[in-house]
Amino acid sequence: RLPLGPLPKELHQTLLDLTANTQQAAKVEVQAPFTGEVIGYVFNGDEQDVEHAFALSRAAQKKWVHTTTAERKKIFLRFHDLVLKNRELLMDIVQLETGKNRASAADEVLDVAITTRFYANNAGKFLNDKKRPGALPIITKNTQQYVPKGVVGQITPWNYPLTLGVSDAVPALLAGNAVVAKPDLATPFSCLIMVHLLIEAGLPRDLMQVVTGPGDVVGGAIAAQCDFLMFTGSTATGRILGRTMGERLVGFSAELGGKNPLIVAKDADLVKVEAELSQACFSNSGQLCVSIERIYVEEDVYEEVVARFSKAVKAMSIGAGFEWKYEMGSLINQAQLDRVSIFVDQAKAAGATVLCGGKSRPDIGPFFYEPTVLADVPEGTPLLTEEVFGPVVFIEKVATLEEAVDKANGTPYGLNASVFASSETGNLVAGQLEAGGIGINDGYAATWASVSTPLGGMKQSGLGHRHGAEGITKYAEIRNIAEQRW
Ligand code: ADP
Repeated sequence: RLPLGPLPKELHQTLLDLTANTQQAAKVEVQAPFTGEVIGYVFNGDEQDVEHAFALSRAAQKKWVHTTTAERKKIFLRFHDLVLKNRELLMDIVQLETGKNRASAADEVLDVAITTRFYANNAGKFLNDKKRPGALPIITKNTQQYVPKGVVGQITPWNYPLTLGVSDAVPALLAGNAVVAKPDLATPFSCLIMVHLLIEAGLPRDLMQVVTGPGDVVGGAIAAQCDFLMFTGSTATGRILGRTMGERLVGFSAELGGKNPLIVAKDADLVKVEAELSQACFSNSGQLCVSIERIYVEEDVYEEVVARFSKAVKAMSIGAGFEWKYEMGSLINQAQLDRVSIFVDQAKAAGATVLCGGKSRPDIGPFFYEPTVLADVPEGTPLLTEEVFGPVVFIEKVATLEEAVDKANGTPYGLNASVFASSETGNLVAGQLEAGGIGINDGYAATWASVSTPLGGMKQSGLGHRHGAEGITKYAEIRNIAEQRW
């Protein structure tokens, strides 16, 4: 159990030693959102550090490429076991630097374990040579091979630093690549402790490099050198990186923003709706790409859904600390608190009704904000269409499911969506929604946890997929060898 304060000196040093940063004069402090206290620092790297990381990882990848998937599998199954064995420490570090509640930190640890196990067990099947038929009259033997890309760049945000820092690296490494990763400066330690465990599991030391530093400088340098880029973050940054990758004609996969809708049909089980809604909207304090920010309810059941949801939200326990009892933790920092407050204040000023929450909670911690539900939000209010990335959702009455679908599809985003309804209605509506992941009678957990099927965004919410076969084959080039037979 770590103290709710600075990282123990030895642990801090172990993690710092794992970064590829060679210039160690400039430092950036990392704070614990629960208290605002500084828990440690990392180095403020630049392009030179990225050069260094690429030199080391390229050399390591040249050897790694000669290992078999069976050899790699053993390392990753060991890593899986180490993740579960060290789960309490991992959850402590995640909570310390993100301020999230324990259950949300547990989600991250489990996601890393599940994703690692899935890819360790299936990488061989996904990446083995495939025999394909040729066309007559020439009898051809086609062999489709998967060849590692080389060094994969990975740029991740602060909201899920373990999951996004490691679950994407695992398939890239299993596919024979090296990885150069840039965690967000707010949350570098989660990624570093996982690299520590990867090395303990037997991963060659230089194969996964972490460089800490500013997003535009270090992230930009990674994009300029990598052989494939995996990015998770805002649509605005995704567009900047997309320009670099387009110029270089190098592959790029991105999970970006969302403004995820949830529809409640009149034939929904309202007990189920009540049980799922709070988690769907307020997990990780709403700082979750697949979090629900818009709820459209058919008018017959609107009043009842509002009453049930408001009651459930008011009963949520919010708090700072490692205890399991809290259902929601802090926001990450002051900037995020300001962002959330502005969206809510604008909506209030425009005449929206506050059903629950609507204010910060400095009595709990410096960046806490109450889970907030708004209704009657007037047309034109930014909250209706822009991503808040916080614990704020609005609820709106619709006359028909057609209107609900139109509204749900009415933003430039298309990441995640949900529909609560009978199975028949749910499937009918799901088939009309423009989103990469759709949950029927589920907030987001089922789509997010479906590691065997691809997860990604439509429209402005992303390119490419994580999870499933696509989540590992994207890290490989395809080489087809066609042999003419006589
Ligand atoms: P968020 O709003 O979730 O912080 P960002 O897109 O700003 O989303 O950040 C996601 C990741 O992208 C972070 O690791 C951040 O440091 C990095 N980043 C920010 N700006 C750039 C940029 N111009 N080039 C490359 N990476 C960047």
